[in-house]
Amino acid sequence: MNRIFVTGGFGFLGSHLIEELVKDSDNRVHVVDNLSTSPINVERYLDELGHPSNLTYSICSVNEYCRSVNNETFDQIYHLASVVGPAGVLPHAGKMIKSIVDDTYSLIELAAKCNAKLVDVSTSEVYGGGQDGYCTEDYPKIVPAKTTIRMEYAIGKLAGETAIINTHKVSNLKACIIRPFNIAGPRQSGKGGFVLPRFVTQSFNNEPLTVFGNGKQIRAFTHVKDTVDGLIKTMKHGRQGEAYNIGNPENKTIILELAYRVIKLTKSKSGIAFVDPKTIYGPLYEEANDKYPEASKAMKELGWKYRYDIDKVILDVIEECLKQT
Ligand code: UDP
Repeated sequence: MNRIFVTGGFGFLGSHLIEELVKDSDNRVHVVDNLSTSPINVERYLDELGHPSNLTYSICSVNEYCRSVNNETFDQIYHLASVVGPAGVLPHAGKMIKSIVDDTYSLIELAAKCNAKLVDVSTSEVYGGGQDGYCTEDYPKIVPAKTTIRMEYAIGKLAGETAIINTHKVSNLKACIIRPFNIAGPRQSGKGGFVLPRFVTQSFNNEPLTVFGNGKQIRAFTHVKDTVDGLIKTMKHGRQGEAYNIGNPENKTIILELAYRVIKLTKSKSGIAFVDPKTIYGPLYEEANDKYPEASKAMKELGWKYRYDIDKVILDVIEECLKQT
């Protein structure tokens, strides 16, 4: 039996991870989620899953849970719980580093106590844009000159990574990090500011697609199911103390091109509106640097391979939006 603990299991990524994990009847999965950023209706989600008997959950924060458990023990811990999204992070300005790092230390302690393996979901934003957007695990992490709220999120994640990797060096802690690149797919909410649900909804409504800036920003969109596969493979095969990029470099695109693809695939009459995002989200909103992954470390060491091309990612988001209308 595998006793598995998932923080943020009712989030966008978490809900897809749980779907996979509960399929194996050898797994006993416990979710902790305070639902603060959850895009799903948990009751409906559990109905759709068929209330699997190997899934239990606690609706509370990571710290509340970790403080309250005494005898629970786990073999695997996936840490997904986090504030998220370029707009979603803004209300947490000034508090994010502490909350991200506090949660990480709680999970390091829990993993050490149980002798569980911890897989921590960090962010590709720790690279600060890599070299012209290209990010490989060998590159230094760059802290930009301008202090932004987005940077606070990345620094919190990087601090968490550092704590995990260094604790591994001086103790028996078993742990790996993943750095996801632009996860996309069904159940992602436009509320955090994420581009694909926004573009698809705008296309359905035949409204102009709000392309930020000049639309030349580079991103590599990765299907959420590919990210989940990367997470599970990292848990199984990841070398202790290592970080892995999980992202699909073949889905590299500029945002304007993404907008045109969405219009084509939805057969929409929408046009494009070039917009300053600060007029939507306020002056604190910041654009991330260009980013796309070198994925060969994950492919070689984990046996991971992305499967979904950019059109399939968009089509799956479209299908989900159609279900909701
Ligand atoms: N974006 C856009 N219009 C929108 C929302 C986002 O042009 O309505 C752009 C945004 O500027 C960014 C890219 O799409 O360059 C990806 O944004 P998302 O928020 O999905 O992810 P992140 O910025 O964290 O990579």
